[in-house]
Amino acid sequence: MSQMLYEGKAKKIFLTDDPSTLLVSYKDDATAFNGKKKAVLPGKGRLNNLISAKLFGILNKKGINNHFVKRLSDNEQLVKAVEIIPLEVVVRNIAAGSLSKRLGLEEGKPLKQPIIEFYFKDDELGDPLINDDHIRMMQIADDTELNLIRQAAQEVNRVLTDLFDGIGVLLVDFKLEFGKLKTNGNIVLADEISPDTCRLWDKKTHEKLDKDVFRRDIGDLPQVYEKLLERLEDVQ
Ligand code: UDP
Repeated sequence: MSQMLYEGKAKKIFLTDDPSTLLVSYKDDATAFNGKKKAVLPGKGRLNNLISAKLFGILNKKGINNHFVKRLSDNEQLVKAVEIIPLEVVVRNIAAGSLSKRLGLEEGKPLKQPIIEFYFKDDELGDPLINDDHIRMMQIADDTELNLIRQAAQEVNRVLTDLFDGIGVLLVDFKLEFGKLKTNGNIVLADEISPDTCRLWDKKTHEKLDKDVFRRDIGDLPQVYEKLLERLEDVQ
């Protein structure tokens, strides 16, 4: 086994023979509320690996540069090595989660236009919400980089909203991370896009098809993710 570079809450990252690529192994561990709620859910790693690989592959085809290279096995994918920019970029189409709580908006209220939020990726601080001025002051990204990130996030939202709409699913909100390629410093989309990082509701019933089933104990997470994967199978 090659050397592990990093272990996060949901994934392990391994070095490969090629310094420009890394191997990501998706774990069955589930966490919520900044790690306070934990469980091992057999099958979750495979499902997120398959779903994330599928979505990144489609985004690549649509010209949205990302770190995904190829899927290697049920739980593993090869990605380009990046240095992650410590921002969680959240895009919202419908009020839910922390936005509903913070602004007192009813969950499910469609937003007139998508909202982009930035959170500073720092577990000890609890990933606080920050704005452009904080990002500049903390030298997390400069204005050019931030514009690029914002535009890419909007483009990802357009592509994924359409894609999910085609399979009867509402893309309520999601979180993206970006990184700088080790090879040339270019900024690309990275990390994962899966039902762990998106809110997805069935268009007709509003049934939750994402990690909220674990956060709120309202269903069997692997079963729900499997259903989502099945729906995604026909998408090219
Ligand atoms: N999200 C994530 N990782 C985080 C925080 C949020 O993937 O550390 C995703 C979450 O799954 C949802 C969106 O970002 O799809 C918005 O999350 P929100 O701010 O509402 O926070 P929550 O109430 O889910 O903690």
